[in-house]
Parts: sequence; C-alpha cells; structure tokens
Amino acid sequence: MACRSLLRRLGSASALCAVLVLVPVSAVPANASSGAVEGSSTTAAGKPPNGGAQAGKPPTAKRRERGRSEKGRGGRRSRDVGRPIVHSFALSRARAFLYGPPTTVSFRIADRSRKVRVALVVLAPGGRVVRRIDLGRRRTGVRQRHRLTGLTGGPLPEGALEVRLTARDGGGKHLRPSKKSSGRRRLAFRWHHFPLQGRFAYGGEGSRFGAGRPGHVHQGQDIPAPQGTPVLAPRGGRVRTVAFQAAGAGHYVVLDGAGEDRDYVFMHLQAGSVRVRAGQGVRTGQRIASVGSTGVSGGPHLHFEVWEGGPWAAGGRPVDPLPYLRRWGG
Ligand SMILES: [Zn+2]
Repeated sequence: MACRSLLRRLGSASALCAVLVLVPVSAVPANASSGAVEGSSTTAAGKPPNGGAQAGKPPTAKRRERGRSEKGRGGRRSRDVGRPIVHSFALSRARAFLYGPPTTVSFRIADRSRKVRVALVVLAPGGRVVRRIDLGRRRTGVRQRHRLTGLTGGPLPEGALEVRLTARDGGGKHLRPSKKSSGRRRLAFRWHHFPLQGRFAYGGEGSRFGAGRPGHVHQGQDIPAPQGTPVLAPRGGRVRTVAFQAAGAGHYVVLDGAGEDRDYVFMHLQAGSVRVRAGQGVRTGQRIASVGSTGVSGGPHLHFEVWEGGPWAAGGRPVDPLPYLRRWGG
C-alpha cells in the first residue's frame, strides 16, 4: 500500500476512501451453538387422537376392523387408528440465516404413547431431502421445542426450503397430519445478509472495486446511503477490529466471518454508532453500526471490503464485493 504517497496527496484526493495502515489482530471464529431444547409442559395432555369415529368400541374390535376394511368405507380412518397425530407445528420465523438467530421450532403431537421418536426433515425445492435432524424421543400431548440453527449435520443449503415434522411411535406407526396442522412449514434460508438496511445506491465507476485512487487502487465497493442507515453483519462471526483512522477509513470495523475464510471491512461509520467491540461474537444480520462519512469521505456511504484467503491486511487479499452484494439481495 502506498500510504505515504496517499497521505501526501490527501489534500487533493477526490476519492471517497483511503487505505488503512493499521494491522489487525487475528481472532478465533465464532462457534454457533446448536442442539435440542426440551420444551416445558404448559398444556394439558391432548385428547386421544382416535376417540371420534371409533368411540365406544373396545380396542380389540378396532384392530380387527382395521385389518378388514382397508379398502372399504372408512378404510382411511381405520388405517389411521393408533397413529400419532400432529396438533401444531410452527417456526418462529419464515426467513433465517446461517449463523443468524436460531429458528425456534415448536410442535405438539398427540398419541397413545407417552413418547414418540421425532425428527425434522428438510427438503429443497423439488422435494429433495437435504437434511434429517433427529430430535430424540419427545413427550406427546405437550408443546415441544427445538432450536434450528441450520448447522446440524452441516450448513443447510440456501433457498426456499420446507421443514417437515415426522414422528414414529413404539409400534413403528408414523405421524399423520390433522385439520389443525399439516406438519409442514416453509423456511427461506440464506448464508449471508445484505450489509445495509434501507435505501442505498452503488454509485458510479469511481465507487467500484479496482477504481483508481490517489496513490492506490480502491479495495472495496462504495455504497452511498443516508447518514444513519443501519449497517448489518453480512455473516455471523467475530469482530477483529474496531478502530478510528482520521486520515483514511474514519471509524471502521473488521469482521471475521464464521465457517468461511473471509473477512468483511466496513469504513466511514458514523461517529458513536459502532455497537460492537473487538473480540465480540455477532450473528448474521446483527446491526454493528450506522452509515456515516468519517475519515476521508466525500459524503455518507459504506465502504465495504471482502478479503479472502487469509485475515484482512495480514495474508488475505481483497476481492470484488459487488457480485456478493448482488447475490445477497442488493
Ligand atoms: Zn471506498
């Protein structure tokens, strides 16, 4: 980096951004937690699922009738006798991010058995099964919960996913849907979040990665946006650096992305807006600061860098952020 040359020419610099001269310390990637959380018993046991049509008949009569009447009138209902049934199934969010806040899955299954073996099956568009998550043996008749991180068994793929609740009782009978719940929910899953929330623009050629700057080449993408626009972590991870450079980046933050060999750099942040500190773990989509115009800047904008192949300014190299930004929804 031609820092001295840059500093000499700062007076005539028309560029929005300057290079940094500080070297960050490395940080340990964040570990996202996962795992099931046993739900608490807040509701009374549900009604037996098969009390309606067959009410009044002894169990032995039900079994005999089920064997005989598979194709006859009421055969479907007879086959369902004794099967666990889903009474409720919900996700706490319809849109989730890898290393973002977990999605709480809650469900209630009714069955004669006190416990049933429960699993979540995740399907990609087209119906391909991409993950099966065993939730173990769960109590019936009460609400159960699970924190879905998208990391169990490896990262879930991006896209419009479907999450299905499945269960099996001790006799091997499988879960059936009810009028109240199909046992299926949609979940839009993404690996990254766009780093701004609100109006923005990409600026002209001079805002691009690789554009000429006095004494150096622009290492990021400038994204003009109103002062105070929330700046969000595009990926969960750990904050490497929070610092100020009057002669260049202004207030800036460096984030080490979790589960990937990538650092993100945010410059010219509004004074007093930085909400994170070095070493802190953050989640995908978490607000870290606000757009400002501190340091060498011609107006409010986010200077955004992506570094790959090693840490920022210590072995990595900057890459063009624009293809990523467009993929993340910009
Ligand atoms: Zn810039």
